[in-house]
Amino acid sequence: MEKQGFRIAVFKGDGIGPEIMAPTIEVLKQLSNSADSFSLSFETLPAGALCFEKTGCDLPKESVQAAKQCDAILLSAMGLPHIRKPDGTELVPQIDLRLELDLFAGVRPVFTFANGPQVLSDPQAANLDFVLIRESTEGMFAHRDEGEVVNNEYATEKLRITRAVSEKLFDFSFRLAQKRAKQLNRPAKLMCVDKANVFRSFWFFREIFNERAAHFSDVETSAMYVDAAAMKMVQSPWDLDVLVTENMFGDILSDLGAGLMGSLGLAPSADIGIDHAVFQPCHGSAPDIAGQGVANPLAMMLSAAMMLDYLADKKQCPEASELSQKLHNAATTAATQPNGRGHDIGGSAGTESIARCIVDNL
Ligand code: NAD
Repeated sequence: MEKQGFRIAVFKGDGIGPEIMAPTIEVLKQLSNSADSFSLSFETLPAGALCFEKTGCDLPKESVQAAKQCDAILLSAMGLPHIRKPDGTELVPQIDLRLELDLFAGVRPVFTFANGPQVLSDPQAANLDFVLIRESTEGMFAHRDEGEVVNNEYATEKLRITRAVSEKLFDFSFRLAQKRAKQLNRPAKLMCVDKANVFRSFWFFREIFNERAAHFSDVETSAMYVDAAAMKMVQSPWDLDVLVTENMFGDILSDLGAGLMGSLGLAPSADIGIDHAVFQPCHGSAPDIAGQGVANPLAMMLSAAMMLDYLADKKQCPEASELSQKLHNAATTAATQPNGRGHDIGGSAGTESIARCIVDNL
């Protein structure tokens, strides 16, 4: 059988980024070698805070161009608190890349598994499985360079919600709800999380959600204000399925989701658009532990598993979906084993040991 070749752009990033990316590429190469129907090739591209320090540019145009030519993009984490712009804000090339590539759907799965970390004491919290979709190109982040502090007396920021992006976002979310319903053999559900009781922009968001719902009559819909949704995520997250929300709300709720999983070191994510997609852990560059060999590579590995599933759908390659599930299982199993349980989840295993554990599980 002729193998399909998938090109993967790799941003190793800053801090612990290169430490968690290296074993992930090794695991992906192993899976690629074992596959009958596809192969992966990797192209490492410069970007990040250290790239800025060296070259004066944190996201070179050439890197973006090269990434656009690839089938998917793997990114570890970028930014370092001590490297800042003159206005005091940090360099955030990972956010600029989302805008460059129009990656409107930030997919943040939240799950727990047998013998893994469990933050909530209720037995129902042992098998959490829901997905938060964070709009990733507009909302409170749309005008992030235009915020003003006036006369040192008051500060203002703006928020943007557009019909065009919201429609794409909701359609993506409805389709994900349908896909999960099929996989999990249960009814499809989608919840819109907003603040439509107070802000016009969020009522607009809600109205577009309701309009798009009419095109997905098999999906059960609901809506919740973000404050209530935050409480729901702590009080009964086992009732949740797929949630869709604005950028800033999603930013905050996705860390709450990572908290429910037991550690940022376990939480994967994907930023998906129509033509491109970036797969990266939810965590940052963790400069406090960089260079110590203790960074947990699981979130990076689980993000790589999400990438394989994306390629499976995009390229109609069922074997990539099988290997995605295999990698997901190998990584979550590692978190339950002494050699695979990292410091961040109460164990003592370092990056190398966790990576070896995943390879053994595969
Ligand atoms: P962080 O996620 O880097 O770290 C928060 C805490 O979690 C730290 O104690 C860290 O040691 C721990 N942690 C994170 N990942 C871990 C892992 N894989 N294994 C074990 N422990 C882990 O958040 P921060 O400290 O607020 O930010 C550090 C830098 O990262 C900043 O420059 C920030 O701007 C940047 N950042 C980048 C991204 C991204 O690239 N997507 C996201 C968030 C923050």
